[in-house]
Amino acid sequence: MADKNNQPIFVLSEDMVRDSGKKAQKNNIAAAKIVAETVRTTLGPKGMDKMLVDSMGDVTVTNDGVTILEEMQIEHPAAKMIVEVAKTQEDEIGDGTTTAVVFAGELLKQAEGLLEKRIHPTVIAKGYRQAAEKAQAVLGSIAEKISIKDEDIIRKIAITAMTGKGAEASKQVLSGIVVNAIVSVYDRKFERSDIRIEKKVGSSVEDSELISGIVIDKEKVHSGMPDLVEEARIALLDVPLEVRNTEIDAKISITDPSQMQDFIDMEEKMLRKMVDKVIKSKANVIVCQKGIDDLAQHYLAKEGIYAVRRVKASDMKALAKATGGKILNNLNDLSETDLGKAGTVENVVIGDEEMTHIKNCKDPKTVTILVRGGTEHVIAEIKRALEDAIGDVTAALKEGKVVAGAGSTESELAKEIRGYAASLSGREQLAVNAFAEALDVIPNTLAENAGLDPINVLAEMKAAHDKDKKWAGINVFTGKVMDAWENGVIEPLKIKTQAISSATEVAVMILRIDDVIAAGKPETPQMPPGMDGMM
Ligand code: ADP
Ligand code: MG
Repeated sequence: MADKNNQPIFVLSEDMVRDSGKKAQKNNIAAAKIVAETVRTTLGPKGMDKMLVDSMGDVTVTNDGVTILEEMQIEHPAAKMIVEVAKTQEDEIGDGTTTAVVFAGELLKQAEGLLEKRIHPTVIAKGYRQAAEKAQAVLGSIAEKISIKDEDIIRKIAITAMTGKGAEASKQVLSGIVVNAIVSVYDRKFERSDIRIEKKVGSSVEDSELISGIVIDKEKVHSGMPDLVEEARIALLDVPLEVRNTEIDAKISITDPSQMQDFIDMEEKMLRKMVDKVIKSKANVIVCQKGIDDLAQHYLAKEGIYAVRRVKASDMKALAKATGGKILNNLNDLSETDLGKAGTVENVVIGDEEMTHIKNCKDPKTVTILVRGGTEHVIAEIKRALEDAIGDVTAALKEGKVVAGAGSTESELAKEIRGYAASLSGREQLAVNAFAEALDVIPNTLAENAGLDPINVLAEMKAAHDKDKKWAGINVFTGKVMDAWENGVIEPLKIKTQAISSATEVAVMILRIDDVIAAGKPETPQMPPGMDGMM
C-alpha cells in the first residue's frame, strides 16, 4: 500500500525534460565543442570550405564561419549560444567569426579538464574573467597605430581578410578596389554600410569595379527614354506617379459613354500635371520608390527624362546619401534644391539584364563595388570575402589600431597570460593558465589546417616570443616561423578584443549552468472537436 506521504511530487509538467548537475554541464560543453569542431577546419588561409545544402536544395559553398553556422539550423540551446558569438562578431566587425567560435569551444574544452580535477565552475569562471581582462590590457599595449594615410597597410588588411577565400586568386584587384572605396567615403562618420556590394553574374572577377555612386537593379521604364543622362539632376520620389490608388477599391458608375471619355480625360490631365511638376523642378532623372503610370512614362520619355520605378527603400536611402538629394513623399514639395546630383545616369546592359548606374557623384558618401564572376556561387563567396575585408578595414580605421595575424597575437597573449598566472596563487592560477592554453588553439589550428605538425611549429613560435618577437607567427605556406607584420598579415585590433570578450562571456555563461529545464516540443495543433475527418 502506497504511503500517503511518499507520493511522488510533480513540480514540472510531465513533458518537461530536466538535466541537472554534472550531466547538464557535460552535455552543454559537448554541444559547444561540436559547434567549434565543425568550423575549425575552415580557419586560416589553408582552411577548407563547406558545402551547405538547404531544404530547398540550394547550394552554398563557403569558408565563412557565421554563414556555415546560420545555415546549419542548430537546435541545442548551448550550441545556439555559441552561434550567437559568431553573430556578434559578424555584426560588430564582419570578420573573425571562426576565430571567436573556435576559441569559445577551446575555453570550454579546457574547462572540462579543470572540472574533472574538481575545480568548481565559479572558480574557473573567475579565472577566465581575470585572464580576459589581462588579455585586453596586453592587446591594447601591443597594437600598432594606423590612419587613412597608411594605404599600404589598409591594403594588407584587406588582403589578409581575403586570403584563403574564394577571392584569393583576385586579391590584388579586389584589395585595390577596397582601398579606393574606403578612401572615397572616408570621413569621421563613415560606416561599413557606406560601401555597397552588388553582384552580377558574367565576365570574370577581374572585371569587378568600383562605382562612385549607386547601382540599382532596375532598368529605365520606357524604351523611348535616353540611355545616358549627363549632369543628372535626380528627383527621389516616394510617391506614385499614378492616378489610381490600387489600395482602395472605388466604384465609379458610368451611365453614358461620354462620361467614360470625361473620366479618361481627367485622368490624363492629372498625370500631365504630375509630369509638369517634375519638369518645372528641372529634374532630368526620376528615381521612384512607387509605380509610374504608362501614360506618365510616355510623357516623361517625350521630355527626355530618364525614370526608374519600384526602387527598394534601402536603395533610395543610399542614393540620397550618394547624390545629396532629398527623398520626397509629396510632389508639391519638389523643387530644384531637393534634387540629387550625379555625373552620369546610365542604363547599362550586362548579358540579358539591364540596370541603372548612377555614377560620378561629387563627394559621394556611398559607393558601390560591382562584383563580377563566372557563376552565382563564385560571386556569392567573393561578396562574403569582400564584406570581411571592408569590415576589417573599417574596424581598423575607426579604432586606429591593428595587430598582426598568423597566430602571432594569440601566441603573444598566451605568453603574457602564463606570466600573469605565475603571479597568482591558488586554484584560479589553474584557470588562468587554462585560458592561455586555449589561446594556443588559434596558431595550432592554423598549422593543422595547413598540414603542418603543430607541435614543432608551436614550440618554435613560443621560443621566438620568449625572445620578444611579438609578431612571430606561422608561415602556413612554408611551415616556418615568420614575422607576421613584416609579411603583411595584418588585422584590426577589434577582431581580437571582440573575439576574446564574447568567447569568454559565453564560456563563463555555459559553465555556470547546472540545470537545464526544457519544455517539451509543442505538438502539432489538434483539430477542434468535430473537425477531424473533414480534411
Ligand atoms: P575568421 O572567420 O576567424 O576570420 P579565417 O578563415 O578568415 O577565419 O582565418 C583567419 C585567421 O587566418 C587569422 O588568425 C589570421 O591571422 C590568419 N591568416 C590570414 N592570412 C594569413 C596568412 N597569410 N598567413 C598566416 N595566417 C593568416
Ligand atoms: Mg576572416
